[in-house]
Amino acid sequence: MTLELTNLTKTFDETKAVSGIDLKIDRGQMFGMLGANGAGKTTTFRMIIGLLDPTSGTAEWSGSRIDYSRTHLIGYLPEERGLFPKLTVKEQLIYLMRLNRMKKQDIITEMRKWLERFQVENYENKKVEELSKGNQQKIQFMAAVLHKPELLILDEPFSGLDPVNSDMLKEAVLDLQNEGTTIVFSSHQMRNVEELCDELIILKNGSAVLQGNLSEIKKSYNMKSIKIKAD
Ligand code: ATP
Repeated sequence: MTLELTNLTKTFDETKAVSGIDLKIDRGQMFGMLGANGAGKTTTFRMIIGLLDPTSGTAEWSGSRIDYSRTHLIGYLPEERGLFPKLTVKEQLIYLMRLNRMKKQDIITEMRKWLERFQVENYENKKVEELSKGNQQKIQFMAAVLHKPELLILDEPFSGLDPVNSDMLKEAVLDLQNEGTTIVFSSHQMRNVEELCDELIILKNGSAVLQGNLSEIKKSYNMKSIKIKAD
């Protein structure tokens, strides 16, 4: 099982949002995508999950495109968090996970496991709007992973989290990787990538400016840390 992007390109009118990205990410890898605002990270993710059609090139998981029949194979944490504020945590997760073909009882069992892990075990019957931003983010993360996807796409998963919650999420992500999940996440911060990934790509104005093994990149560019700057 491999995630393979081949000459992946997306143009919106005059804007080349993503331009000729080539990538191969093997099963169980944790891959970082770094870039400033507008670099093309979200557009790349939307093409991978089948939400946007590429202008040219392909994005394939295990040899074919992710279309409606395969969406349960992926988990997606969108940058614009989107939960239903009036639903309880339980209702929210049952609604979303049924779309991923999970049985109700399995959803509840998995939900309780994750709520305990995230130290919000009493939150199952709270409405989403009653939760703090950080706790909403944990619920959104659960909605991306509860159905045990093969491929997990996380758009800025650590942004807006305090250090305790951020560490909690990082540990969860590492455990999922150890269980064999392939994970791609975006970030503005090299620190997150250095902590979690062996391989990365750095995007600027839709193109890859650097990609490959983290330690080799750092060696060849003689950097202690890579700074990501907007234009
Ligand atoms: P951020 O960190 O701010 O989310 P990003 O790296 O995810 O940035 P994208 O959201 O992929 O970047 O945007 C890449 C470029 O494509 C930007 O110039 C953006 O304005 C443009 N763009 C994205 N979506 C659309 C759209 N639907 N219509 C027109 N232009 C778009």
